[in-house]
Amino acid sequence: MTGDSNPPPPSGPAASAGPTGIAIRLEPLVVRVLAPNPSAFTGTGTQTHLVGTTDLAVIDPGPDDPAHLAALERAIDGRRVSAILVTHHHRDHSPLSRPLADRTGAPIVGAAPTHRTAGGEGGDGPRSDAAFDADYRPGRVLADGDIVSGEGWTLEAVATPGHTSNHLAFALRETNALFSGDHVMGWSTTVVSPPDGDMTEYMASLERLMGREDRVYYPGHGEQVDDPRRLVRGMMGHRRQREGQVMRLLGEGPRTIPEMVARMYVGLDPRLAPAAERSVLAHLIDLDRRGRVRAEGDRWAAA
Ligand SMILES: [Zn+2]
Repeated sequence: MTGDSNPPPPSGPAASAGPTGIAIRLEPLVVRVLAPNPSAFTGTGTQTHLVGTTDLAVIDPGPDDPAHLAALERAIDGRRVSAILVTHHHRDHSPLSRPLADRTGAPIVGAAPTHRTAGGEGGDGPRSDAAFDADYRPGRVLADGDIVSGEGWTLEAVATPGHTSNHLAFALRETNALFSGDHVMGWSTTVVSPPDGDMTEYMASLERLMGREDRVYYPGHGEQVDDPRRLVRGMMGHRRQREGQVMRLLGEGPRTIPEMVARMYVGLDPRLAPAAERSVLAHLIDLDRRGRVRAEGDRWAAA
């Protein structure tokens, strides 16, 4: 068994989101500005979206970078910012919300700063690691179905946990566009890293998008997705394929996670090996819940 090597390619052209700092109009109500933070995890960088014409919503301001703040202020061009929306508070998405709120007076709204906790008590938030923006403080937390609106635009929060437990997408009702954050991206499948990332929830959130009629996705990274359900179906198939690989490997005998990654991700960029290990762990946790695998020390076995 050789296994597939990489996620399926995104639909449409290869990820090339244009130069940083330039406002690119995607449709009359939507402008995109690329932040200067390319990496193995962010692709060409984080994409901030501006929605509206007279007053604006800013979705995922991005990393705390003065050049990106200046670029957003050029794109805002003196107009009123009614809301700064955040899909999730990873450090490449939310830190610029604070300086932008200071400069514009707009409220920060969106994903919860605190969410699920082990045992249901306390309030120490997503089971966060260094990828999270610890200083994220929304003035208003949005639940599934909550609305934020301005002149000519209406954004509805769509709960899409999985990449993180607090992840939200935002649906622009006027044009059937969905700002999909890191849940579904135009350049790669998302990282699902336990304990906050959850494969069971991620698959349910993909299933949920399959039941929607969105015309286009504008993701946090990578090109816009013009055939959303085709891509989502492909991503679900990709995860099922990974799950099948895990079960076939464990059918040969107990394995550690690094042993599985070496067999499952042939030719993987070494920088992404830790993320691949987290992803395999996420599959194992999901399979364990369904009674199909069990942990034996640092090895996993078919149940
Ligand atoms: Zn993220």
